[in-house]
Amino acid sequence: MKPLASLSLDLDNEWAYVKTHGDPAWESFPSYLDVVVPRFLDVLGGLGQRITVFIVGQDAALEKNRAALRSIADAGHEIGNHSFHHEPWLQHYSDEQIEAEIASAGDAIESATGVRPRGFRGPGFSLSAPTLDTLARNGYAYDCSTFPTYIGPLARAYYFMTAKLTPEQREQRKGLFGSMADGLRPLRTYEWDLGDRSLIEVPVTTFPILKIPIHFSYILYIATLVPWLALPYFRAALLACRALRIAPSLLLHPLDFLDGTDVETLAFFPAMQMPKARKLDILTRALALYRNLFDVVPVGEHAASVARASDTRRIAPVFGT
Ligand SMILES: [Zn+2]
Repeated sequence: MKPLASLSLDLDNEWAYVKTHGDPAWESFPSYLDVVVPRFLDVLGGLGQRITVFIVGQDAALEKNRAALRSIADAGHEIGNHSFHHEPWLQHYSDEQIEAEIASAGDAIESATGVRPRGFRGPGFSLSAPTLDTLARNGYAYDCSTFPTYIGPLARAYYFMTAKLTPEQREQRKGLFGSMADGLRPLRTYEWDLGDRSLIEVPVTTFPILKIPIHFSYILYIATLVPWLALPYFRAALLACRALRIAPSLLLHPLDFLDGTDVETLAFFPAMQMPKARKLDILTRALALYRNLFDVVPVGEHAASVARASDTRRIAPVFGT
């Protein structure tokens, strides 16, 4: 029997990227869901792979996206909550705003897909103790917003260099992508200790010990720099997880399935110059490798197996500012 692993996709839409980049064009909510949803459903369907798709509430609230979102649930994938406004500085919201953000996204997602989400991933891996508390009180089974890596500050430096931001926006986003301390968080699944409530945490897996990213966008980025290295790097990371008995949880992004000809506004993003045929080839091979080494399930099933285990660690929610 193969060891357990999970797979998810953060359904960040075109407007969310444009917004994070500081471009006012986001206000008309440009969407590529009609292009990317059938494409990823096709790839996953071809493999017989079910995953968790984390949907942004704002997309679910717009009529133009409903058919695409409903098709994800109809294909048998788990549906998760990826916040309403997709603002990666969610951890700076007030407790009431966090509550409203999670509840309104849950309602919109349920209305669009027919499914009430039971899992949450914060935008840009943002997380805070009030967020965990809100999730537990509202019947969520798990969170998967931790990203144990040391490269957060590096990613932020790159972001500040390339984004068009006002001084206020810079202040608001100064904690974006986390701190070095995030690298110290566990790679193994655990349970948040929230007093009389608890919540399972399924971290986004990074390379064991090195704590550098191994999710598919990063594999594709490596392929643009050193083409021969991408898949051996991914394989080494998966073998390290197996050797250390870490059940990995990896994620996909819409841009893994698109190229610059699909979305011209995002052609400047890493790996968007790579033709989609080549991208999909690398991606399919990486997914096959993942499925060869692990029994890959949606995150909700991964979390449920952790909840059943008797030796799950309990960790108090401690966060920097
Ligand atoms: Zn996102």
